[in-house]
Amino acid sequence: MEDCVFCKIGSGEIQGLRICEDDEALAFMDISKDYDGHILVIPKKHYRYVTDCPEDVACKVWSMVQKISKHLIEDCGYDGADIMSANSPVSQSLPHFHVHIIPRKIGDRLGNPGEWPKPEGAEEDLRVMHERLKMI
Ligand SMILES: [Zn+2]
Repeated sequence: MEDCVFCKIGSGEIQGLRICEDDEALAFMDISKDYDGHILVIPKKHYRYVTDCPEDVACKVWSMVQKISKHLIEDCGYDGADIMSANSPVSQSLPHFHVHIIPRKIGDRLGNPGEWPKPEGAEEDLRVMHERLKMI
């Protein structure tokens, strides 16, 4: 889609701070500075919702979400990762299917059990976090 920023990141027209990628999916740092380590995973091609994706593409996106979540725990010292995807015209901020990954530590300042993480603002420098979290 011509004016879609995620399509431009997916094609490489905009580089982004890439975490990992394969032929169909791409993960990169969210630049909104709402959470430390906020990562987005997208299909490289434009699909508005997960329900628009061919199943094999959706599987590649979710497989990458799992791979990154394991990396955050096993290699980066996090206790886990919250995973979210707004998937409706009511809640989706950009019309290109994407999954948010928010690294979490027990006792962090993002909220209590049973709550979505509160966007308290990133404390760490985005490029420092990218160096710490990238897999490529
Ligand atoms: Zn797009």
